[in-house]
Amino acid sequence: MRYIEPHAHMVSRTTDDYERMALAGCEAICEPAFWAGFDRSSPAGFHDYFCQLTEHEPRRAAKFGLKHFSWLCINAKEAEDVKLAEEVIALIPKFINRPNVLGIGEIGLNKNSRNELRVLEMQVDLAAKHKQLILVHTPHLEDKLKGTRLILDVLKNDQRIRPERVIIDHVEEHTVEMVLDCGMWAGMTLYPETKCTPARAIDILETYGHERIWMNSACDWGVSDPLAVPRTALEMKRRGHLTAAIDKVIFQNPKNFLRQAANFKLAS
Ligand SMILES: [Zn+2]
Repeated sequence: MRYIEPHAHMVSRTTDDYERMALAGCEAICEPAFWAGFDRSSPAGFHDYFCQLTEHEPRRAAKFGLKHFSWLCINAKEAEDVKLAEEVIALIPKFINRPNVLGIGEIGLNKNSRNELRVLEMQVDLAAKHKQLILVHTPHLEDKLKGTRLILDVLKNDQRIRPERVIIDHVEEHTVEMVLDCGMWAGMTLYPETKCTPARAIDILETYGHERIWMNSACDWGVSDPLAVPRTALEMKRRGHLTAAIDKVIFQNPKNFLRQAANFKLAS
């Protein structure tokens, strides 16, 4: 089995996780910028985090033969403070040309608030100005359907954004269709407790097909499973999915989306 982990917060994981992912057939890991599990107190905290994502973490992954890529942004959970968000966004251009950067993400909404929307628009503008791919986090504690609609409206209203260069993550049964219908990519997050279980993700694949869709573990500092993608691939096999179809979802699809970023290159 070979696969790409398109969404993992490796700064929160151990070297054992890197080794197990490499043993399971992982060829590359992509790490969106996210909430650290606590609020950072200043832009300097984000500066250090962006250094960690673009310097330290790729070196840690390389020790296990894994390519590491990252996305940059201020996440929705810390975006309620618009002044802080503006200061963090101003830091990003300095990091955007670093060799493992794929684009702007994971931006999006958390509580669907007015300030979050403002910061989302600022970051969509940043991505457009710098011709970057976009990775979007959709809310899961608050209303995901409403949040996804609001996010799609922001993206569709910006004429500079090409839908095939956007991935909307954490889709579920009630949001996947609207994302695919507007030409964007959809990401399913496999969580042991919340978001999608492997069984639900496979049901979604069987209903909506295998085009423009991928799966990720979104493993972080909370209850999550860095091997969720290969585990779900095994479950697909058990349910009779062909090897080529599994390879498409866990390897070819993320590769085809991500290679729109000039920095994305696999070792093989
Ligand atoms: Zn995430």
